[in-house]
Amino acid sequence: MAGKKKSSRRVRPGAQGARGSRRKAPRGAVEVGIQAWVDDPSSPWGLMERPVPVLDAAPFAFSITGVAIPVGRYEPGTADFRHWNAADALRRTADLWAPLLARHEVKRWQPGATLPVSLDAGSELNASYDRTQLAFFHAGRGKTAIFTGESPDIVCHETGHACLDALRPDLWDAPFIETAAFHESFGDVTALLAALGLPQVREKVLGMLVANKPSPLSRIAEQLGAAVRQTHPQAVESDCLRNAANRWKYVAPESLPASAPAKELSAEPHAFSRVFTGAFHELLSRMLQETFASPSADDLATVAADAARLLIDAVASAPVQPDFFAQVGTRMIDADGATFAGRYGGVIRAVLVGRRILTAAAPGDRPATPAGKRAASLRMAAVATGGEQQTLEIDAAPYGLSSAGILVDVPRSVAVTAVPTGKRTLSVADSTAALERSADRFIGVLFENQRIELPARVRVRGIAATARGAGRRATHALSRTDGHLRLSRLRFDGAS
Ligand SMILES: [Zn+2]
Repeated sequence: MAGKKKSSRRVRPGAQGARGSRRKAPRGAVEVGIQAWVDDPSSPWGLMERPVPVLDAAPFAFSITGVAIPVGRYEPGTADFRHWNAADALRRTADLWAPLLARHEVKRWQPGATLPVSLDAGSELNASYDRTQLAFFHAGRGKTAIFTGESPDIVCHETGHACLDALRPDLWDAPFIETAAFHESFGDVTALLAALGLPQVREKVLGMLVANKPSPLSRIAEQLGAAVRQTHPQAVESDCLRNAANRWKYVAPESLPASAPAKELSAEPHAFSRVFTGAFHELLSRMLQETFASPSADDLATVAADAARLLIDAVASAPVQPDFFAQVGTRMIDADGATFAGRYGGVIRAVLVGRRILTAAAPGDRPATPAGKRAASLRMAAVATGGEQQTLEIDAAPYGLSSAGILVDVPRSVAVTAVPTGKRTLSVADSTAALERSADRFIGVLFENQRIELPARVRVRGIAATARGAGRRATHALSRTDGHLRLSRLRFDGAS
């Protein structure tokens, strides 16, 4: 295997350990550093020299499992290279979000102060965050093996899941397509922003980004995309896993098929995430165009930092409900008013209306009543629980589970938001029906994509029977509780 320790050749040895590495090297001494991919092993941007990342720095420390690897510049394709390459991407991602999360009093991972990372958790063409660790995998053998942890795009995406989970743990079990898709989009947006934190990327991408054109920046996970295409040519885009420079426009995801070739939009969360990611990429482009007469790479640094701040401030307060994209979008406009005196508000609104995430007149009215044809067959029960949550029981019979209904927790009511502020609330009955339709479709999409793990000895037929083969593909599980089945999330992953 390419990752054997003895095959690693240290190009230029450095000091053991990373703690003191931020000190300036003495005069005449070789500056200690590492080398890493700029954004992906298959990106034309290639390798870069980097200072030694301090993996265990607080807040948001990491610990890569396995033996310690001495600091050094290693050859790509070796396990030692992958260690420091991943360490660089992990640290850059945490350092990107940490100061913005701190403004919302968030200073640790959901699992604790240190997030474990496994760089080779087995044979699989994927990567995941499961609230115990970030896990990366390998596929293939020998020289053709790929390791998902070798792609900074993928490492940043998964770390993005963990950062968002630290800020909004309530998104974890939210039973809506848009909340799941937003989590995926946040991962890809994290990859974009982490790359834009590198001065050489800002220089190289400026022209393409101003024009909102595809670029190595917008192409997320080129190498993994190519690997997936070998067996599933239509499953991912032709030049990468997902491209942020896209033209996707919002439609209520409940109305979309559970899966589709990458050239169409579907309700599968990674596929649907492209709507928000595309809007964010376009937003960066138009913030540059419309704020600066002749945008420079330094202006791009400003815009990326401002957009990151607006996104975090919006996400921090957006209510968990079916139209989560619109909820985040309207709050980005609010946050801009509060933070930048409305400098970007017009651009944000124009982009989000152009993408149909918001409607010009009354944006909240559309997604508050998502499409759903099976409402009449749904039964609603157990409207209990305190606080802002209620538990819905979704009829599981249409999925082939006749023994019990599926319990999901949803908010008690749906906020309808108008641009730029001004909020009203639907009646409890209307909003409960909307929440129920959306949760029901989310469960349907999970079943159709074989993403649900079933408890042992449950009688199934129909679509639920196919869930028996979900295995590691499962992002959710149904577990028995008081004669019902409760839906809960197992992990977020990175592929489609
Ligand atoms: Zn993901």
